[in-house]
Amino acid sequence: MTHFQTCMHENLIIAMNVRNTMSKESKQAAQVHVNEVISLKRQMESIADQRGFSKRCKTAIPICKGECCKWQFPKNLTHIDFFITIFNMPEEEQKTLSKIILQANTDYCPIVLKNGCFLSFEQRPVICTNAYPCFNDRSYWVEKEEKIILFKKAFDSLEELFKDCPCFTNV
Ligand code: SF4
Ligand code: SF4
Repeated sequence: MTHFQTCMHENLIIAMNVRNTMSKESKQAAQVHVNEVISLKRQMESIADQRGFSKRCKTAIPICKGECCKWQFPKNLTHIDFFITIFNMPEEEQKTLSKIILQANTDYCPIVLKNGCFLSFEQRPVICTNAYPCFNDRSYWVEKEEKIILFKKAFDSLEELFKDCPCFTNV
């Protein structure tokens, strides 16, 4: 198993433990911040749509076969990235994700399956949703930079909720 698989798996397990043991009040607060992140991702996706990236990407996939998920995937997803990913995911599916990461025998992103990413748009890490490495142009990245502060605020709020969870403070 590669080092990044080990790190990804460790952070996923931390996220699962917190998600599945946090209080009802913390869950409600977390849902608000997870929704903020999903909404920001949709705004970035809408910008990508306006620039034609999404359409060009879909057209290219039969040829490129998702090359970006093979070579440019994020190797340092944090417990917060995984928390957002699994927050609305049933526990059985969380376990499947854990197995996929552990059992992948590849140098590619362990989450990419033969027919694409295991994760839905809502579940995908922020960095994956906003990537489009083949089509980036400066204006797209400037708009993304403007949103970084909002993404960071939501991530910081979730980190605060983690600190209230005994299973995280004992890690
Ligand atoms: S961003 Fe590029 S490599 Fe990735 S799926 Fe789209 S066209 Fe393919
Ligand atoms: S998590 Fe999904 S979208 Fe992100 S690099 Fe891996 S396979 Fe691609």
